[in-house]
This record gives sequence, structure tokens and C-alpha cells, in this order.
Amino acid sequence: MCVRVQYVSTWPFSPYDADRKLIRIPAQLEGSYVLDAVRAVLTELAVEQPRSGALCFCGEPVRLLAYVPEQRESEDQVVRHGA
Ligand SMILES: [Zn+2]
Repeated sequence: MCVRVQYVSTWPFSPYDADRKLIRIPAQLEGSYVLDAVRAVLTELAVEQPRSGALCFCGEPVRLLAYVPEQRESEDQVVRHGA
């Protein structure tokens, strides 16, 4: 299962959920800050990142184009890369 990105608006939160392979970033982030945040988390996880974009553990790009705000405590708002 690939890494997914979830926007969260509630604090505190863990930036990474290893069980669900879920990267969480603040919903307030926009534009390139989103990518920077995802890359930072992945780098912390020892996943080498390219000059641009963000890569999953498996080497596939993590897609960040869709902005899906958190609406409730469920996985509905999770963005799957490659979908
Ligand atoms: Zn992957």
C-alpha cells in the first residue's frame, strides 16, 4: 500500500501514521508548502526525495494535486496517489 496524504485541521497530530502509511499535513498549507511538508516527512522516514516532487517508499510519485480538506474523522478524505 502506498503512502497517502491527509490534510488535517485538528491539533495535535502525528505527521506520520506508520500503520496506515498516512502522511498528515496541516490543512492550512497551500501550494509548494504542501509538497515541502510531504517531502520533509518522507525524508524523516529515510525515503530519498528527488529535486522536485515527492516519492513514495516504492518509488512512485505521491500525487498532491487534489486538495481534500478534512471533514470528519474518517478515511474518506484521504488522497490516494495514483488514483
Ligand atoms: Zn508506493
